[in-house]
Amino acid sequence: ATPMSIMVGVGRGAREGVLIKDAQVLETMEKVDTIIVDKTGTLTEGRPRVTEVIPAEGTSEAELLSLAAAVEQSSEHPLARAVVEGAKDRELDVPVADGFNSTTGGGVEGTVEGRRVLVGKRGFLVSNDIKLSSDLDERSQSLQEQGRTVVFVAAEGRQLGLLAISDPIKQSTPHAIRRLHELGLELVMLTGDAEATARAVANELGIDEYSAGVSPEDKHDYVRKLREQGKVVAMAGDGINDAPALAAADVGVAMGTGSDVAIESAGVTLVGGDLRGVIKAAALSRATMQNIR
Ligand code: ADP
Ligand code: MG
Repeated sequence: ATPMSIMVGVGRGAREGVLIKDAQVLETMEKVDTIIVDKTGTLTEGRPRVTEVIPAEGTSEAELLSLAAAVEQSSEHPLARAVVEGAKDRELDVPVADGFNSTTGGGVEGTVEGRRVLVGKRGFLVSNDIKLSSDLDERSQSLQEQGRTVVFVAAEGRQLGLLAISDPIKQSTPHAIRRLHELGLELVMLTGDAEATARAVANELGIDEYSAGVSPEDKHDYVRKLREQGKVVAMAGDGINDAPALAAADVGVAMGTGSDVAIESAGVTLVGGDLRGVIKAAALSRATMQNIR
């Protein structure tokens, strides 16, 4: 009777947009007490757009955005796509870059018309010995407090400016968060994004626990540590950067809208990237396990 009930459960899940890869998931999901969620692409739409272009003194908006877009053309990151689209929307000429290099969870670099251009988070520029303007840092802080992701741009050792990027919260997210709280699950948001941006999003959604500026390895270690404390952990994410954490969780949950690597690393895939699928999966697990017992 056991395999039959599991098959029925898996079939029901599939009809409701919850793709269950492995029977074990249906058994474990019932015991989950902690759910970790990635921010970008999981809580948010993951379709970010450039909202502000803020050049440093001596640089124009067009120069700032076209140089950044030149480098980001070679990146698959959702922020990169936003920068390239931002340049196209403003009908800028985007030069070709070579010597592309990417630091996961940090940023990208490339050579554009002989200039070495860096695009990424603040710490990425700092670790490349770029001096940052305190004026721009103030702008950055206030934009982050509005939930914006801020991307820093430099060329040849000098900061060229900031790009502010907005990624709206998915319509389905507030309801999903409320239900997860009602179910008594402990909820933690992890993000590679900056502290102030993370705080703004967490506050808006009523998430008490979050950690910002985390690398893919940090996400993985966070999951491991909770499991060592005896928690049963589901981790929901969409990106390549989430894959190690998804694989380390008791149940990995990938957004169907996310990267293939995330989907391959997860036991559950949510069609359309609707986080409410986690609640369906939990209910399905309970029903299935009751059937078996
Ligand atoms: P998240 O956990 O929010 O999905 P990531 O770990 O992918 O984010 O990236 C963390 C941070 O590194 C981003 O918020 C961004 O500031 C920076 N970053 C990473 N890749 C890029 C890129 N291609 N262009 C600009 N910034 C990037
Ligand atoms: Mg993500």
